[in-house]
Amino acid sequence: MPAKSPLASVNLPSMSKERKARAKKVLERLAAAMPEPECELDFKSPWQLLVATILSAQSTDKMINKITPALFAKWPEPKDLAKASQEDVEVAVKSSGFFHNKAKSLRATATIVTTEYGGEVPKTVDELTRLPGVARKTANVVLGTAYRISNGVTIDTHAGRVSRRLELTEHDDPVKVEKDLMALFPQKSWIDLGHRFVLHGRYVCLARKPKCTLCPLNEICPSAEAKASGKWPERAEREGALVRARGVTEDKSNLEAGLA
Ligand code: SF4
Repeated sequence: MPAKSPLASVNLPSMSKERKARAKKVLERLAAAMPEPECELDFKSPWQLLVATILSAQSTDKMINKITPALFAKWPEPKDLAKASQEDVEVAVKSSGFFHNKAKSLRATATIVTTEYGGEVPKTVDELTRLPGVARKTANVVLGTAYRISNGVTIDTHAGRVSRRLELTEHDDPVKVEKDLMALFPQKSWIDLGHRFVLHGRYVCLARKPKCTLCPLNEICPSAEAKASGKWPERAEREGALVRARGVTEDKSNLEAGLA
């Protein structure tokens, strides 16, 4: 069931017919490439996802997946992390960067979740964004991925870039980008759409050298830098394989080299 959202309750911008038509095709093609997209952070509970997402700011999912197994083994529940010392948590999260602030946020968040929510991660964006270290992006990830609550679209640096290149928005501010996407795409698609845009930006629409030739969105992308190779369903299939392999494939000639 959709959660009440501060963004959903305000008027969303109106969009041109052309932009709406492009959005429809983008959704069709990315859904073909990634029918069941997943968050790449490893987690086994909403609490673990919340911790991993707080840690992932200014870092990579790969790095966070290396850190969290030891962290969760040492402090499995919010009540355990709430009792941990600042120094110990800093050591545990050091390689994620900004470790002093992240350790502070994690301990404070653990305390609030323990004392105010009985150890359960809350299920509304208002409650989540009250937690230290939790902005709207993190709230969307937790609600969408852990609870399947379609509250908004997760916009990180990759999703923002993809949205602008596809001219679905002209904004840099992630909150404004999200509003534009919410206006363009049906609410039932928001959770998976966020994952798809993030993954498409991470593996195909790269910041410095987008792989336009092999991109399934090539013909409908106003920013395409090269002509497409082959038909879009084939390109979509290849992107799906690359995403499933998290960018690392044994058959480089088939996937990575082909997309380079
Ligand atoms: S065609 Fe190029 S710029 Fe456009 S979405 Fe694909 S990779 Fe990105």
